[in-house]
This record gives sequence, structure tokens and C-alpha cells, in this order.
Amino acid sequence: MLQRVAVGRWSLEAYRAVVPERILHELREQARALEGARVLHINATPYGGGVSELLRSSVPLLRDLGLEVDWKVITGRDDFFRATKALHNGLQGATKAPSEAEKAAWLDCARENVESIDGSYDFIVVHDPQPAALATLYSEGAARWVWRCHIDTSEPNSETWAFLRPFLAKFDAAVFTMPEFVPPDLPVARVRTIPPAIDPLSPKNFELAHDNARQILDWIGVAVPGPLVTQVSRFDAWKDPLGVIAAYRLAREQIPSLQLALIGSMALDDPEGWDVYRQVAEHAGDDALIHLYTNLTGVSNVEVNAFQRLSDVVVQKSIREGFGLVVSESMWKRTPVVAGRAGGIPLQMPEGIGGLLVDSVEECAEAMLRLLSDRVLADELAHAGREHVREHFLLPRLLADELRLLGELGARPDADDRATGQVREATSPGALPTSNR
Ligand code: UDP
Repeated sequence: MLQRVAVGRWSLEAYRAVVPERILHELREQARALEGARVLHINATPYGGGVSELLRSSVPLLRDLGLEVDWKVITGRDDFFRATKALHNGLQGATKAPSEAEKAAWLDCARENVESIDGSYDFIVVHDPQPAALATLYSEGAARWVWRCHIDTSEPNSETWAFLRPFLAKFDAAVFTMPEFVPPDLPVARVRTIPPAIDPLSPKNFELAHDNARQILDWIGVAVPGPLVTQVSRFDAWKDPLGVIAAYRLAREQIPSLQLALIGSMALDDPEGWDVYRQVAEHAGDDALIHLYTNLTGVSNVEVNAFQRLSDVVVQKSIREGFGLVVSESMWKRTPVVAGRAGGIPLQMPEGIGGLLVDSVEECAEAMLRLLSDRVLADELAHAGREHVREHFLLPRLLADELRLLGELGARPDADDRATGQVREATSPGALPTSNR
């Protein structure tokens, strides 16, 4: 049965201090047209990972704007989450597709959950592949269904894609982070590209005084000024934590006192997390300068805030990445970033903004060393990064884009797009220039 997630209260008014007024104005306009609309967001976990991060802030803000919004998570047993991780990996291009038993577990779980959707919603937004079968299984109500895909589906494993594809045909619209992620034979006519965003006022990202941040790291056991490099990511092979350790060890040949913090949350829907954690712990050995933390050892939002703020460099050495909220989170805190040239990361870090993009362990080590030794360059990149995030990757821009789509769906149900099969793009006040997309 779908389970409701409780969220706090949030007010758009508070964003005036940090978000450009034209974006707030646009959001209010879009929300006015949808006042009272009933919206249900469905994903697979209430904590850990980018989607829960987004929903925890979006849902209360949308309520503040006059919409009636619920957030529910699909519930399942271990076999369901093993199946969804296999599906996730296959969609991001892993050679192995889900097994027949995993496909059956995925579908059975959706059947068990679909009965608890009530028919009163105007819009149902399904995040990622975990709950994607619900649209096909649901037969009542007049809701418009949106599939919000957060992962890199540009080169899915063909068997995995052939399995998922028919389940997407019932959606009225699909949203991807980048045009490159839209699979060529997607059976949904109305497609938008909308990059995610961070909440500048959440405990993860709000301003934290230097002394307080330092006190937090002292208490955790990390000495700053370090020097310190940090990666904050689920323990997932796509985030390449072993590559981070390899690059760090190369960099430490030049800077022997360099510390590395690897912080990873264990999401409910990621059963591989502990396996990857064990591999990482093995590689780290008993090196006193490598600090390994999970959300289960007390490193949560405010602690991540302190790490992203006080690290000399934040690393995000992803091999595949949907977007990588951690990049914008760090740039917002004026911390320079070294990141893998993967998925949505270059969108956040065009040339000269935020930090340096890398394609290998060696490049990663070189880029860390460059930013650690040239603080003028590091500061320039970091400053540009903060302003880039302000313009493009703060929550009100994301909500304006999403509400624009819901408005179109509500006003012109199944209109011309379906007939013509056209794929069109969202444009928004914070939209990136085409060259960055
Ligand atoms: N995160 C966290 N603690 C951790 C690891 C990750 O709070 O130990 C958060 C991180 O700050 C970010 C989100 O989880 O907000 C990860 O989102 P991202 O888009 O970077 O990656 P995803 O996990 O969705 O692939």
C-alpha cells in the first residue's frame, strides 16, 4: 500500500532574499492557474537520494502556493527493491537486465500498491522507474499522469528498455533532465526537459556560520582547515567511490596531510548500498586521513551542509549521473567542485563555472591539486558557481517549470501533441541557453 510521507510547512515569501524576483513572479503566475488542483507525487523512498530531497521541499512549497499536494511512497519487500535496482542499473546502461523473477516482483508490487490510489487527483507524478507500472495498472479517475525520470536513460540496456517501455505508454507526459536522456522510441508524445534544483533554505543548504560548521566537523572528528576533499553520494558504483579514493591517493603524494571524507546515505530503495560500502571500507583500510560516514552514523543534513561548506574541494566523480544535486549544493556554498563529465553535471558546470570537469582518475587527482594550490582560480570558479545556481538551479525555477507543464496538461488534455507526436521543450525564466542543454 502507498504510504504517505509527512513534510513540514514552507513559505515562498522566505525565498525573496535569495531567488531572483522574475522567477518568483513566474512561479506565482503558474500556481495561480492551478489553485486547488490535487496532485499526488509517488516515489520509492522518503529519505536518501535526490528525489526524496526534492520532494521534501517541493511539497510544502506547492501547498503554500494553494495546491493540494500529497507525497506517497510505494512500499515493497526486498525482492521489489532488488528488482528496481536492477531496472535502474539497466536503464543507465548496465549490461545485465532484470531477471524474469525480478520483473515479476516489480509488477506484483505495483499491483499491491495501485489499489490504494484514490480517484480524486487531478495529476499524478510518478518519479523514476520504481513505481512506473502504476499508470498502466490504474483504471479509475481522470488524473493526468506524468513520468518524471531523474536518471540517465540515454543508452539503456535494450532488454531492460524493451521491458519498461510498454508501461510508459499510459503517461500523458514525461519529463527528463536533459534532451539527451530521452530514449528515441519513447511512447509518450508530450516530453519536456526540466533540470532539478536545490532548496537554498533547507537545513542541507541554509547559511551556516563558519564557526558552527567547524564545530560540527570537530565533533565528527575531521580537522579543518585540513586540507579536506569530500564526496557526498549514495554508495553506488555509478558514483565511483573507489575512483575517488584512487585519485585522492595520487593527490596525497603531493599533499601528505590531505584528508578525504566519503559520506553516503543508505536509501531505502538501494539494496546495493552496503555491498559498495564494504568495498569502499576495504579500500580505505585503516588510513586515519580517510573518513567514512553514513546517515546511520549521524551524518545528516546539517552535517552534510558543514562538509560541503568547509571542504577545500568537493568531488563528484560520477560515471553516470542523472543530475547530481550535490554539485549545485556545493556550488551554492561557494565551494569549488571537481566532477565527472557525466549526465547532468556539465549542465551545472559549464566551462569556467563552479569547478573542473574530469574524465579519469588521473585527471581527477590533477584537478584536485590544481584547485588546492591555486586558491585564486578556485575562488573565481566558486563565485561563478554560486551565481549560476542562483539563476538556474534553485527550487522556485523548478516548480515554475513543473507547474507550467501541469497547466498545459490540465488545459488541453491529450491535445495536439498526441496527434502530431511532437516533442517540445520547456522554456522558463531560468532556462539555460540552448548551448548548455
Ligand atoms: N545525500 C545526503 N547524505 C548522504 C549522501 C547524499 O544527504 O550521505 C543527499 C545529497 O546531499 C543530495 C542527495 O542526497 O541532496 C543526492 O542527490 P543526487 O542527485 O546527487 O544523487 P542521487 O542519489 O539522486 O543519485
